[in-house]
Amino acid sequence: MRSNTKGDLSYNYAIDTERFKHTSLQMVVGSNVDILFHAFFADVIVEDGAVTGVVCETKSGRQAIYGRIVIDATGDGDVAFRAGVPYWQTKADEASRLNDCLMYKIAGFPEDTTAKGCIIGRTMVVWGPSPGAHNGADARELTEEEIDVRLAVYDDLEEKKRDAGGQLDGAAVIDTGALIGVRQTRFVEGEYRITGEDVLEGREFDDAVAMAHVFAIGEAAGVAGARCCTTDRTPRTLDVERLQATLIEQGCEIGQGKRR
Ligand SMILES: Cc1cc2nc3c(=O)[nH]c(=O)nc-3n(C[C@H](O)[C@H](O)[C@H](O)COP(=O)(O)OP(=O)(O)OC[C@H]3O[C@@H](n4cnc5c(N)ncnc54)[C@H](O)[C@@H]3O)c2cc1C
Repeated sequence: MRSNTKGDLSYNYAIDTERFKHTSLQMVVGSNVDILFHAFFADVIVEDGAVTGVVCETKSGRQAIYGRIVIDATGDGDVAFRAGVPYWQTKADEASRLNDCLMYKIAGFPEDTTAKGCIIGRTMVVWGPSPGAHNGADARELTEEEIDVRLAVYDDLEEKKRDAGGQLDGAAVIDTGALIGVRQTRFVEGEYRITGEDVLEGREFDDAVAMAHVFAIGEAAGVAGARCCTTDRTPRTLDVERLQATLIEQGCEIGQGKRR
């Protein structure tokens, strides 16, 4: 069953990625953000134990960029890693459960298909070939896995078609993810590491700033960074209650309903 019901998290829906790119760029440009595309983070600038800037490789050569706050948005903690921040990684025997894969988009299937995937208009996003357990923070391993999954895409669709008993007849690949989807690499050691017991017990934390999905975590990091700049504080000394209040004002769900 497919559902458009709010709160139904059964992997039945997807967003229009092209519209998302357009809208998010429009919002950033409209906010007067100084953008530098095609810049690859290469190193950190550390002063008195704090990251005060980054060095990037760009089309114009190496550039140093300073900021009052640096937010590591590399997904893999590249900035934190280069700054020597303690971190841990998923153990090899756990990694096979993560199902990293190259997701891709298909079109041309029957309109009333019941095949599994996230429908967006007349297209569908499906889970693609998986490289199995690997270290996504290792450049050589990541390259090998990226090659393997890309070369396996068309065979993967043929297999899906065979399994779908006609529900995917006529389907063709129309897009693949820009990068192989890696779920876990480095985890930065924070002030507290949430345990399995915390999760099973449903423990609540007074300093929560986001719930579950990654957009929320990113929004909390961005707002916290902005508040550090306007209040001249460091992330560690930021007033968490004020931060939570700002996030709630912005419509974020940070568990306030549960804690009330
Ligand atoms: C198959 C799969 C399915 C998922 N499904 C869901 C889901 O349904 N719901 C959910 O909430 N989460 C889901 N996730 C997790 C979610 O996709 C990630 O947690 C999320 O994308 C992380 O966002 P991010 O912006 O932190 O990092 P990313 O999305 O990884 O973005 C990091 C960006 O930084 C760039 N970058 C990396 N290193 C550098 C560098 N050194 N210099 C410059 N740029 C760099 C990368 O190119 C990339 O554009 C899924 C993940 C996978 C793999």
